Amino acid sequence: MHPWAYDLFILERKEKMKKELVEKLLPGLTHDVSYYENLYPERNLAEGAIVTRYAPSPTGFVHIGNIFQLYISKKMAEQTGGIVFLRIEDTDQERMVENGITRIIHDVNGFGITFDEGAINEEEEKGEYGPYIQSHRKEIYQTYAKDLLLKGLAYPDFSTKEELDEIRKEQEQTKKRIGYYGNWAKSRNYSEEEIEKKLKDNVPFIIRLRNNGDYDQKIVVEDAIKGKLEFPEDDIDQVLIKSDGLPTYHFAHVIDDHLMHTTHVIRGDEWVSSLPVHLGLTKVLGFTPPIYCHIPPLTKKEGDTIRKLSKRKDPEAAVSYYHEMGIPKEAVMIYLATVANSNFEEWYLEHEEESIDNFTMSFSKIGTSGALFDMEKLLNISRNYLSKLTAKEMYERTLSWAKTYHEELKELLENHQEEAIKFLDIERNTEKPRKDYAMYRDVLEGIWYMFDEKFTDVSYEWQKITDKEEIQTIVNSYMNEYYKVGDSEEVWFQKMKECAEKLGYAANMKEYKQNPENYKGNIADFSTVIRVALTSKSKTPNLYDIMNILGEKKMKWRIEKLSKK
Ligand code: GLU
Repeated sequence: MHPWAYDLFILERKEKMKKELVEKLLPGLTHDVSYYENLYPERNLAEGAIVTRYAPSPTGFVHIGNIFQLYISKKMAEQTGGIVFLRIEDTDQERMVENGITRIIHDVNGFGITFDEGAINEEEEKGEYGPYIQSHRKEIYQTYAKDLLLKGLAYPDFSTKEELDEIRKEQEQTKKRIGYYGNWAKSRNYSEEEIEKKLKDNVPFIIRLRNNGDYDQKIVVEDAIKGKLEFPEDDIDQVLIKSDGLPTYHFAHVIDDHLMHTTHVIRGDEWVSSLPVHLGLTKVLGFTPPIYCHIPPLTKKEGDTIRKLSKRKDPEAAVSYYHEMGIPKEAVMIYLATVANSNFEEWYLEHEEESIDNFTMSFSKIGTSGALFDMEKLLNISRNYLSKLTAKEMYERTLSWAKTYHEELKELLENHQEEAIKFLDIERNTEKPRKDYAMYRDVLEGIWYMFDEKFTDVSYEWQKITDKEEIQTIVNSYMNEYYKVGDSEEVWFQKMKECAEKLGYAANMKEYKQNPENYKGNIADFSTVIRVALTSKSKTPNLYDIMNILGEKKMKWRIEKLSKK
């Protein structure tokens, strides 16, 4: 509608409500809408800058899908010189949990994501467009509702639950579309006298939109991710203000996104079906709609069906899971980037050494249907990521994680700093580093046997050779006759082979394969005996390095223990 046509439409409305009555419905408001329109001027940002928001309800749970959306929001805003703010949508006071805001911020920060503006904790916030907590914006919403009442575009509804149930029942019986609209919306017709009377009797009420939408009309929206979407126009008399004076989510967020100058509403696609409501409200309030970007959910395969990653069923849906398991935030973000943009993986192969911040994201490369959440792939990315850290970084990060989540690992790392770093360095700084660790938690399993206090606890997991005497012969012969501190790796290996041959094991695998009957075993079997004797494990990083780190004294102590078994 052209602006003057809209003015005329308002001017002629017979439903316009007297100011005195409106003030009885919403008392104590000091400003009118123009005050707020002036209070929050256009943002001074570069052309094309994306202003977006993360708008959670503080229910105490951040889903990995939220981090996924937030990563996209953050990236798109950063790329365009824009802004991401945190707005707390707490108008449903019953669902709130204690310290909900602090918990959200903690979880989100855990992935290295910060906000340019918005709530900082339960009390503080930063930015010029606040308050950023909806329950602190009650007056603002009421002021806009008041404006709609004055224009005849809203009305109070004193219906009881029974009355509403009655309408619904009748609609069901007569197979009519369910909802409070058109002729069903009986409360549209209250006279001012009736309203006065109900107010005097303290009858609780809500404020509804007097919806002029036409269900037979189509509206078309161009979603930046989903493309063209078509819906029937909304004609439901949506609730704007609830009986506790707080707004509904629909009403509040439309006003907030307008006043906070959100350019792009980036959110989960469970909100797509609410778009007609949001666009209807935007129109009636006279706002310019933002660009909508609805992100599909992360999904999971269960048997033959694909379903949303669920907070009830899947531990990996909660972001606390990643923190608790010790999966590095960087790996999660790399993984989310691969899910977000189809061309990311190709880019990353060529730019692995760079920060993923250098990748350019685009809405058009976001899939339109759910993306399968592949934990195996995430853990592989993590393995790869952790293998590239220096031993010292790996040590420090693991320790810092263990301080919160793993007392045993923390103690081990603190008591053996130097040795642990040396150990973590084995086969690390090489062309093809080892990929033993997908999580900080794995480090305990990877290193415990290097430390004598843990070593005593283990039972030996022998391979192939189980004869006790043979084992003793191998170990003693090697230690007493061949092992020498300071040998180079080449000499060390040569001596292993010599010792193996002397005791009847093939040093040459080819020869062994041709005539296995001529040998007791081969060099691999032989070295496994020594490996297990020294570490109690049949698979470890490079044995030569392990021996050097352990040193002769510890090795002898371990071998002696073995002889007593
Ligand atoms: N408060 C809504 C939620 O928690 C936000 C939806 C939106 O971003 O508009 O899902």
